Amino acid sequence: MSTSKQKLKIPKNKQIRVRIAPSPTGFLHIGTARTALFNFLFAKKHGGKFILRIEDTDLERSNLEFEKDITEGLGWLGLHWDEGINTGGNFGPYRQSERSKIYSNYINQLLEKELAYHCFCSHEELEAMKQDQLSRGEEPRYTGKCSHLSKETVKKNLQENKNFILRFKMPSKKVIFQDLIRGKLEFETGLMGDIAIARNEKTPLYNLAAVIDDYTMQISHVIRGEDHLSNTPKQLMLQGVFGFPEPQYAHLPLILGPDRSKLSKRHEAVSIIEYKNEGFLPEALINFMALLGWNPGTEQEFFTLNELIEKFELLKVQKSGAVFNIEKLKWFNTHYTHKKSPSELMKLTIPYLINGKLLKKKKDEYFNAKTKEKISEKELEKIISLAGERMKTLEDITSLSKLFFVEIPDYEKELLRWKQTDWPVIKQNLETIKETLNKVKSDKFTKDNLHKILMEDSKRLGVGETLWPLRVALSGLKASPGPHEIMDVLGKEKSIKRIEYALSKL
Ligand code: GLU
Repeated sequence: MSTSKQKLKIPKNKQIRVRIAPSPTGFLHIGTARTALFNFLFAKKHGGKFILRIEDTDLERSNLEFEKDITEGLGWLGLHWDEGINTGGNFGPYRQSERSKIYSNYINQLLEKELAYHCFCSHEELEAMKQDQLSRGEEPRYTGKCSHLSKETVKKNLQENKNFILRFKMPSKKVIFQDLIRGKLEFETGLMGDIAIARNEKTPLYNLAAVIDDYTMQISHVIRGEDHLSNTPKQLMLQGVFGFPEPQYAHLPLILGPDRSKLSKRHEAVSIIEYKNEGFLPEALINFMALLGWNPGTEQEFFTLNELIEKFELLKVQKSGAVFNIEKLKWFNTHYTHKKSPSELMKLTIPYLINGKLLKKKKDEYFNAKTKEKISEKELEKIISLAGERMKTLEDITSLSKLFFVEIPDYEKELLRWKQTDWPVIKQNLETIKETLNKVKSDKFTKDNLHKILMEDSKRLGVGETLWPLRVALSGLKASPGPHEIMDVLGKEKSIKRIEYALSKL
């Protein structure tokens, strides 16, 4: 790691200001969310400001639905921005589509100083240029053709309403900068050609808009994905001609799929909100994302957001790609789910039970959506706590607790059989258990009491030979909580009914 040589510069006004600048042309995916998290942690650690800027200069592809998804996703993760859209601040507007006035001032400066020019080349011409360069084994770049047009020709073309874009006269230079993660980097700007910087005098394209915004919003550190690395020398050149101070740059490593290819929809959910819907907890995602490219250098694996703020170090972010492993996310999620108190877990899982058509809520009362019976909050809490022990995601609550909501679970008779036990033995054992249970008073149908009471039968008749068919009779499942726990939730009447149903199969 060459990062040890890097040094953080704290701006003169002592205020660290960083931004997440998503384009609302897609959902908030894990890559942007991780970038947001690292920016957030960096800002909070240094008492700085975390800013949300919406980069919607591409009006055709930008969509309010995506912007909503982005703000909802960041909010759900708890990555609240100090300044930005919806929140406001002194450096707004924070949506690029609302900043034309600011941009036109700078674009006109470039045109007046002849640092930018109108390019009228058609798509076909540009494509032909590219093919020609490729055939000669050269990197494709704009040849600078329109930079030679006379003022009269430009004027005439504009009067004729010819399509144009604005290009920046890229000086040919070696650009060197210190990336906080990747160390010293060098680029030849001459290889880039005159880049397109604006659609017209009011509408900049990404590189120019980012440079103007980063300057006018007083961004001190630009922390973004490595996919933007090739934009940085272009932005440095633009800052140079305007005389803007350079922010410090940190390019985060790519997130890779388990096959080490670039992470795509094949590997993970499209939107962060999808993780929410699938029953992941925000604290699990935060913990998981923090370790995508960063580690504390200790054995510690679990971090709350506050601990991350304290321990996170930008200079310790790795250069190499970070592998996305969904099992690790589930592991974190299991950990955080198990840490919830019964009442918290109840609040979190009830929406999934309702969605899964197991539970209904009318006014303030809950009903079993299948049997229409009323369920008390106490009963519900018992069901949820029991399922909670085996839950990896909140959504698992439906499959894990379904056995408590159905009238009687159905299953193949074969499941009742413990190993090769003869059927008459299974039947006899279930009959015996039923008789024992019949003698227990309804209010004594508790887990511990049942455990004690059934101990005698199971010792005498065999643990597997009694408790296995009993558990299957109660749950209808190959794997489930223990029979005593299930009976504790079901109560005497329902438990016996399920045993009788099992007996009817034998
Ligand atoms: N709009 C860019 C993106 O969504 C942000 C690039 C930057 O952070 O400069 O990737």
